[in-house]
Amino acid sequence: MTGRLVGIDVGGTKCLGVALATTGEQLAAVRVPTPNNPDQLIATLAKIADELGADDTIGVAVPGLVNRDGVLLAAPNITSVRMLPLRQQLEQATGLKVIVDNDNTVACLGEWRLGAGRGSDDLLLVGLGTGIGGGFVSGGKLQRGANGFAGEFGHMIVDPDGISCLCGQRGCWERYASGNGLAQHARRAASDGLLDAILDQVGSVEAIHGEHITVAARFGDSEACAVVDTYAGWVALGLVNLTNLYDPAMIVMSGGLSGDADVFLDAIQQSFVRRIFATDLRPLPLLRFAELGPHAGAVGAALLTIENKE
Ligand SMILES: [Zn+2]
Repeated sequence: MTGRLVGIDVGGTKCLGVALATTGEQLAAVRVPTPNNPDQLIATLAKIADELGADDTIGVAVPGLVNRDGVLLAAPNITSVRMLPLRQQLEQATGLKVIVDNDNTVACLGEWRLGAGRGSDDLLLVGLGTGIGGGFVSGGKLQRGANGFAGEFGHMIVDPDGISCLCGQRGCWERYASGNGLAQHARRAASDGLLDAILDQVGSVEAIHGEHITVAARFGDSEACAVVDTYAGWVALGLVNLTNLYDPAMIVMSGGLSGDADVFLDAIQQSFVRRIFATDLRPLPLLRFAELGPHAGAVGAALLTIENKE
């Protein structure tokens, strides 16, 4: 061991590798496009590991269902990959020990050790991205579930007759509370005759994105603020369900909104407090946004290499 921790976050479009010192300081980073081909993916990951000078172990975060044997069963954004024995093949290609885990579980590890979750033994990470993924630490231990599938918070069903989801069900939480969910609420408001100023600017309902709402709400546009409140209500609904299940001390929200706490955090907090069970009798979990940004997955993957050695 030279004390260099190497982790790679495999994203739908790019792979980000980082090398950390054992103090957590970032020593190097490599970013390359993600090939949509299993053999090229393995070769790309092996090359990144080599460039970053991994000594004996690397951690890899993957955007999909990965089992405890390091087999990537499916990844919605890397369509060519199915039942890929990633750990085994990457170990063969590199001669290194490889630890593979779900990207949100790994981001939870990163935020817990080096980001917004530092010092908490019971926390949830909720990733509000294209969908919603998550991870959780309970009693000071990162949890994975019986199969490695724990933390798929986005597919909690919050309305059985609701909007259909890519997973085949209806009314999954991520349809309402993901980053994409914000855009959907905005488009619905625009279709109902609201958000004229944004509509004038972008030209069509379909062209409205979440950022338009964030910017307009920051300037005090009342219709955009109403969309923020609707969205925040859906986010809070899921966080309430999760809090009733896990009783966390802290919930860290990550994803594209992490830089917009000024617009979203109060609204989420207010809706959360209105709905939580036993409000007066419990310490409320601290709600906060993530600190590591897009590096959380790669940083967490690097930390996987020492996670079980402590
Ligand atoms: Zn679903």
